[in-house]
Amino acid sequence: MLWLTLGPFHAMENQVLVIRIKIPNSGAVDWTVHSGPQLLFRDVLVSGHLNEDEDGDRITVRSDEEMKAMLSYYYSTVMEQQVNGQLIEPLQIFPRACKPPGERNIHGLKVNTRAGPSQHSSPAVSDSLPSNSLKKSSAELKKILANGQMNEQDIRYRDTLGHGNGGTVYKAYHVPSGKILAVKVILLDITLELQKQIMSELEILYKCDSSYIIGFYGAFFVENRISICTEFMDGGSLDVYRKIPEHVLGRIAVAVVKGLTYLWSLKILHRDVKPSNMLVNTRGQVKLCDFGVSTQLVNSIAKTYVGTNAYMAPERISGEQYGIHSDVWSLGISFMEVCCCLQIDTSPLQLLQCIVDEDSPVLPVGEFSEPFVHFITQCMGKQPKERPAPEELMGHPFIVQFNDGNATVVSMWVCRALEERRSQQGPP
Ligand code: ATP
Ligand code: MG
Repeated sequence: MLWLTLGPFHAMENQVLVIRIKIPNSGAVDWTVHSGPQLLFRDVLVSGHLNEDEDGDRITVRSDEEMKAMLSYYYSTVMEQQVNGQLIEPLQIFPRACKPPGERNIHGLKVNTRAGPSQHSSPAVSDSLPSNSLKKSSAELKKILANGQMNEQDIRYRDTLGHGNGGTVYKAYHVPSGKILAVKVILLDITLELQKQIMSELEILYKCDSSYIIGFYGAFFVENRISICTEFMDGGSLDVYRKIPEHVLGRIAVAVVKGLTYLWSLKILHRDVKPSNMLVNTRGQVKLCDFGVSTQLVNSIAKTYVGTNAYMAPERISGEQYGIHSDVWSLGISFMEVCCCLQIDTSPLQLLQCIVDEDSPVLPVGEFSEPFVHFITQCMGKQPKERPAPEELMGHPFIVQFNDGNATVVSMWVCRALEERRSQQGPP
């Protein structure tokens, strides 16, 4: 039996908790709790299990103190999500209720927090998201990991997620935090001085705090290679998804535009906008990665690898000045590729020449909506000044139309695509 005294958490006092008790084969019952200084759980919980992260790890709560600590942590993440205008993640509690381990949580008990009673009657979003609660917000995890200093000894490399120009990305397990990370390892034969410069240039990544930007947990050099540790996205990058339907791509576009707008507000140009640098996960989140915050890192990689690709704007291929508008071009051509089944070969010189000399390609009218075709055409204006500025991007009818915070659409599409991929691969 658990009595919870929640006095110290003043922010909670206006919160309404909805506990959803799911009964197999017969629907669900919602129990509304108006949280005040005291919250009584004795009617539903004997003890609780908390779904913790994408690995399915759970925190077992054995005492009031542990429960309080867990709720305190949860409410700080809710507050943070509210301040950032993010979707509030449900807290899932799996009551043990004296069941043997194999039968725990047969009712799929969930506690949802709502910002207020008005939103209370529409549980659809949190209900349909395959998200886990108590997920450490990226800001929180960043703090934890940054304080602990990332290092090679604490990391266990697992699968290879992919190879790029210059680096290999691994799925890895971070032992002290129990978290799954994506670690990009790049071989760089550079002086200690340059290594230090890169590390200091990467510092700004700790300050990047947006739900549309991949979380950065730290970086370190070992001998002649740098390891950059970031949040792992279980849906991978957009380049492996083909013919993304417009209603899904619309939601992805909203996130990408918000991510770019955020970076630009920090005076960071992305410089490498392309489908492989747009990551998705089964929670329906879309995040940008691999933006060029470290000039020295970009230069060091460019010494070894060809630095031009077919997503680059004409002015950039021609060696002219690079600005926000060049990122906008890359956004346009990237979306054109992922919605059309168009395969952009990133290297041939003729293609690069075409981008510079020919008219920009346009989406086939009739196959796509008018706002979408207009959006892509605008982004791919031949002259940088013809392309929309950040505020124009956000105000474009295509973006406005899909800026509805509906993460479920992307989430379901990612889950389905992963499912299909698994079934094509057959049993392990
Ligand atoms: P380039 O090096 O030219 O930018 P790239 O983006 O394909 O090309 P990498 O950045 O090295 O190359 O990434 C390789 C692959 O690893 C990506 O295509 C993506 O599928 C995967 N990947 C990268 N970061 C993550 C991440 N944080 N979570 C999950 N998968 C990732
Ligand atoms: Mg990349």
